[in-house]
Amino acid sequence: MNNYLKNKLTTIQQIGEYRSDALNQIGIKNVEDLLYYFPRRYLDRSTVKKTNQLIVGEECTIVGQVQRIWTEKTRRGTILKVSISDDYGLLTLNWFGGIRWIKKMFIVGDWISVSGKINFFQGFNINHPDFDFLGSDVGNLNTGFIVPIYSSTENLKKKGINSRLFRKIFKEIFREMRKDVPDPIPLNIRNENKLDGLVKSFNSIHFPKDEQSLQRAKYRFKFQELLMLQSVLAIKRKIIRSEKCEAQCKKAGDLVTNLYKKLPFDLTDSQKKVTREIYSDLKSDVPMNRLLQGDVGSGKTIVSAIASAIMTENNFQTAIMAPTEILAEQHFQNFQKYFTPWGIDCELLIGKQTKKQREKILPKIASGETQIVIGTHALIQEQVKYSKLGLVIIDEQHRFGVDQRMSLIKKGLHPHVLSMTATPIPRTLSISIYGDMDTSIIDEMPKGRKPIVTRVVNEDKLPKVYDFIKSQVSLKQQVFVVYPLISESEKMDLQAAEIGFKKLSHIFSNYKVGLLHGKMKKVEKDLVIEKYKSGKMDILVSTTVVEVGVDIPNATVMIIENAERFGLSQLHQLRGRIGRGGKKSYCILVNRKYTEQGSKRLRILQETNDGFKISEADMKLRGPGEFFSAKQSGLVDLKIANLLEDGDILKKARISAFSIIKDDPKLENENNSDFKEFFLKNNKDKLNYASIG
Ligand code: ADP
Ligand code: MG
Repeated sequence: MNNYLKNKLTTIQQIGEYRSDALNQIGIKNVEDLLYYFPRRYLDRSTVKKTNQLIVGEECTIVGQVQRIWTEKTRRGTILKVSISDDYGLLTLNWFGGIRWIKKMFIVGDWISVSGKINFFQGFNINHPDFDFLGSDVGNLNTGFIVPIYSSTENLKKKGINSRLFRKIFKEIFREMRKDVPDPIPLNIRNENKLDGLVKSFNSIHFPKDEQSLQRAKYRFKFQELLMLQSVLAIKRKIIRSEKCEAQCKKAGDLVTNLYKKLPFDLTDSQKKVTREIYSDLKSDVPMNRLLQGDVGSGKTIVSAIASAIMTENNFQTAIMAPTEILAEQHFQNFQKYFTPWGIDCELLIGKQTKKQREKILPKIASGETQIVIGTHALIQEQVKYSKLGLVIIDEQHRFGVDQRMSLIKKGLHPHVLSMTATPIPRTLSISIYGDMDTSIIDEMPKGRKPIVTRVVNEDKLPKVYDFIKSQVSLKQQVFVVYPLISESEKMDLQAAEIGFKKLSHIFSNYKVGLLHGKMKKVEKDLVIEKYKSGKMDILVSTTVVEVGVDIPNATVMIIENAERFGLSQLHQLRGRIGRGGKKSYCILVNRKYTEQGSKRLRILQETNDGFKISEADMKLRGPGEFFSAKQSGLVDLKIANLLEDGDILKKARISAFSIIKDDPKLENENNSDFKEFFLKNNKDKLNYASIG
């Protein structure tokens, strides 16, 4: 069957080679792509005001025809003025800058819509309005008619491709297109979810009859988008689970019991619960693929140690990958404490080790003599061979790319995988990114933790802050001063910390001040951390190297410089370094660039210690794309769905996606062929280790 959607752009009357090229450049290659170029917004006639209805100070939209374009010289400089009229009167638009460029855009007789705040000075006017060119076809809008507005780049505009032309193009397409073009959402899914068909939905999204039909169309396309996203996850999950794990565990015996016995604390109920979940996975011959979420300090490390103990007892190796050397070293020390007494060999693998050190360790890993290996991405290097790698643990997993994770997993025997993250994320986001994994959540802090008191201060309060530090240090408490990333370059970062260190050494000349940063040699770093841990140092100035995982129970004060430059979740992570010892702790966020919005943002940290609430607020402020690195999430591709608002649609789309893949894992069913074609076209790259096609 000839599929109209696949027609070349030039089959449309309004589009010749010249325009086709311009559209190709923004990724529109055929009629289908064009139809998915949805309006940026709509102009609803009912919300548009006429020039005789204007009220000073009100924000509104007016549609009118350009009457005159001129400039006026004033004491302050030149103003560009454009007057427009509707049937009821005149409105003047003013621009104080960018004049030459804006002036060229208008031609007398153009119909435009403008939005902005109404002023009155020698008649009604708006300064720097938003505007759209409508074209003459909407000069006489009828009530209830919703006009689509399309975004258009400079280049497109130059070639006459503006909202007006888009409307003409779509009118033509809808005249030509038959009702039976392939619909990527299978019929049964459409029926179950009461979704409109593709053609009707395209019609309603480009030319909505009314608000309701627009909403129905948006719903359908959001569903479709989320269905595709979830299908990727459903397939990944299916593939992982179809492999037979060769590291099936039979028992959790003495070693686990011994480990428990030596712990200086009892596990929280949450830790017990997730440990059981993990154990039941490890016993199965389906590889575990589990995400362990738990706020900073909730005690994920001991859970991972227990999982490693189970593996060890069953004669499989465990590899634990951490994002920084400091963190890997800390895990290593903890694991040695847990395991060495029982004769179990743990080794550390990090980039800084000498060739000689490495030559000693690698054969032990390859022979299986070493049961537990802890390291950074050094673990995934070519030369590292494992003997029976049965469990891969990835700490702070959001710090690693998919490829890095995969390379470690590939070194094993279809191993179990436990990913851990301290970045709690809202449920909708979590099932969009990690929807192929099972999740376990530690939602409880170890007993006796005192909540951290957080304060946002401006620079002028620093003397008081320093007095406070003195009072704390004299009580034998330890202080962190963190200089977070100032610029993209690590050098600058370092510089800020070094300058801070000099300044603070001077201010606190009676106390011991130390400096820690990522560029230091390992021995130097160790020395500093060791001194600090043992209480021989009062104040530790550092870069963000302390961000992840570093554990120093006696530190009760953290000052974070230039806090305004950070995401809230990152600040939350940072402050999680303190308040671990059961003493009252304080986090002071120094805001060096005061804005109302900025301090409102930071005050969220003052109000709550709940990582989930913070990440939700953070995501609302920064958007999910910023929140997660683009390449790992695939969320940047979402054009119409919004994960913060469309949670209900997401749930339904997820159920549908998993049911499609469950019944037809290779998408061989004729009923799914249109789905398959669309799905593969748009998602092939995300299925890098899937085998459909
Ligand atoms: P995170 O989840 O951030 O990785 P850690 O595993 O580093 O947290 O644990 C933080 C601190 O809490 C460590 O010092 C650890 O020994 C301690 N801890 C872990 N579990 C408990 C518990 N159940 N009771 C008391 N302290 C605990
Ligand atoms: Mg940790």
